[in-house]
Amino acid sequence: MGTSFQLGDLTIHRVIEEESPLFDPLTFFPNLAPEVLEENRHWLEPQAIDPATGKLRLAIQSYVIRTPHHTILVDSCVGNHKPRAQPFWNQKTDDTWERNLAAAGYSVGDIDYVMCTHLHVDHVGWNTRLENGRWVPTFPKARYVFAEREVAHWEAARKETPNPIFEDSVLPILEAGRAELVAADHGIGDHLRLTPTPGHTPGHVAVELGKEEVTAVLTGDLIHSPLQMRYPEISMRADTDQKQSAETRRRFLECHCDTGRLLCTAHFPSPSTGHVTRWGDGFRFMATEA
Ligand SMILES: [Zn+2]
Repeated sequence: MGTSFQLGDLTIHRVIEEESPLFDPLTFFPNLAPEVLEENRHWLEPQAIDPATGKLRLAIQSYVIRTPHHTILVDSCVGNHKPRAQPFWNQKTDDTWERNLAAAGYSVGDIDYVMCTHLHVDHVGWNTRLENGRWVPTFPKARYVFAEREVAHWEAARKETPNPIFEDSVLPILEAGRAELVAADHGIGDHLRLTPTPGHTPGHVAVELGKEEVTAVLTGDLIHSPLQMRYPEISMRADTDQKQSAETRRRFLECHCDTGRLLCTAHFPSPSTGHVTRWGDGFRFMATEA
């Protein structure tokens, strides 16, 4: 399926910024028991866990959805020149994402809407770019769609703890008057709808694609690894509500299991897309061909 594919009258492109072994699984998933990791290591390696480092291999990517009416970019990765706590994301200067956007056939001027499933570091970065020492919207004509509840959460949180991510990648969009703060079930045209999936963050949304019926769904960060398909109760350390995240994940996977709908995950290793089937008490990710 590669990085671009057609679903009815929609075209979906993956625009990859990086794909690397990034995090230790037991730190990333605080409620993952070491023996469960060992039992499952054989099918997670080499794609989802890098055998050399033992780290989770994550893709960091955007999806570009071309509908008959709009070109919509979902999630905008880490971006360049931004001060970040993670050394591997701090002050990035590489052009991989920009090259891959061009390879998919788009320039930043082609994007009608940018939408973020939530407002974490690896989903908002290219919202803005540095120009003469100021953060300006990267996409010159795009409206930026954020869930109202998600923005409210981070607005409140930054009064307690400074949040450079919000300040350099979300606030300049709000101040430029380019944001649309929407309900968690908002639609863009008749081919794309948000759906509330709280837990990873309070205002997290997934994205359903398809005109009359749902043919594909973008998960955002309601799930990070195929391991959480088999065990939906495994939550990720940054989930603001670990219990709600697990409940949302199980409900979501149950809803899309054996439906033929294409799951487009934010972080699973390439090809990142696939179908959900059952596996015991959990689920299995049947990845589409790379
Ligand atoms: Zn993420």
